[in-house]
Amino acid sequence: MAEKRDYYEVLEVPKTATAEEIKKAYRKKAIQYHPDKNPGDKEAEEKFKEAAEAYEVLSDPQKRARYDQYGFAGMGGAGGFSGGGMSMEDIFSHFGDIFEGAGFDLGDFFGGGGRSRGPRVRRGSDMRVKVHLTLEEIAAGCEKKIKVRKLVQCKDCNGSGSADGRTETCPTCKGSGRVVRQQRGIFGMMQVQSECDTCGGEGTIIKNKCPKCGGQGVIRDEEIIPITIPAGVAGGMQLTIPGKGNAAPRGGVPGDLLVLIEEEEHKDFVRQESDLIYNLLLDMPTAVLGGQVQIPTLTGDVKITITPGTQPGKVLRMRGKGLPRIDQYGRNYGVGDLLINVGVYIPEKLNKDERKLIEQLQNSPNIVPGAADKKNFFRNLFGI
Ligand SMILES: [Zn+2]
Ligand SMILES: [Zn+2]
Repeated sequence: MAEKRDYYEVLEVPKTATAEEIKKAYRKKAIQYHPDKNPGDKEAEEKFKEAAEAYEVLSDPQKRARYDQYGFAGMGGAGGFSGGGMSMEDIFSHFGDIFEGAGFDLGDFFGGGGRSRGPRVRRGSDMRVKVHLTLEEIAAGCEKKIKVRKLVQCKDCNGSGSADGRTETCPTCKGSGRVVRQQRGIFGMMQVQSECDTCGGEGTIIKNKCPKCGGQGVIRDEEIIPITIPAGVAGGMQLTIPGKGNAAPRGGVPGDLLVLIEEEEHKDFVRQESDLIYNLLLDMPTAVLGGQVQIPTLTGDVKITITPGTQPGKVLRMRGKGLPRIDQYGRNYGVGDLLINVGVYIPEKLNKDERKLIEQLQNSPNIVPGAADKKNFFRNLFGI
């Protein structure tokens, strides 16, 4: 106790520091001496604990007042003060919030959920599967049956893991799943809780294990899972099917099945969110004279009219011939369009007769563009 440093000195704040200044000072120290940053460094661990102890007192107005008046002597007695000697787990569970945004993973420190109290309910792990969809399937929505290999409940023991259906209360922890041990701290003995080793935190043990699953309550098997895909989904989206992931050992909660959508390339269309793009290459006479052309849509071919004098670069829009729009809750609202990019094919090879025909056109007055035509063409195509 003699070598204990003054709490204000530990946090390097004046005795007049405000609550906010104390918090800031502690955050700085806690990050500096964080175990993730100083692995295996005993001195850093001591400083980390020392700072936490100082903060525990100085962040509480009553404790701080008592400390200000009586020093360390005011800390050991009655009044509900637990004193120093906090374990690392206690520091994180009390002051873990201080690290918010500091880039440390608290889950790692606790081995995932070590803060829970009482018997542990096991949860099966999530499973991830991919499903490939065509644009036609996406446009209409569809049902898919997916075969997955996963942990399923053992039928022999109904998932209990017990051959005779019986489980017994764990003799070590008396069913609580946690054990309490005494640990010496600076102000005397304190209690530290941890998971019970005998039952792995479940609170029960099985004497007569099911031979089929070896007491796990789960076996590996195949299951065919029907999945409803809403219309309008896109590659990269993930659907969650609750409870269809791996079963949990001994009657816990099953994990989820995460379905990742992958989109197959389409021979005719490129997707742009809920719009579809189709490239239409017209022959020269049709672009000049106009006419009817057939184009595909996701619901079958349709005929469209090309007006005389259609320029390359023009975009035709067919409203409502795209894909259904979908919001984050999987609800549809509206439908996208089909955009038709128009190009005009300029032939590269000509036979004698064709060459003659084009040559005849060459000096014809309406074939050669004037200054205004040139300006309009590039403005329409490139906006300049
Ligand atoms: Zn136990
Ligand atoms: Zn079994």
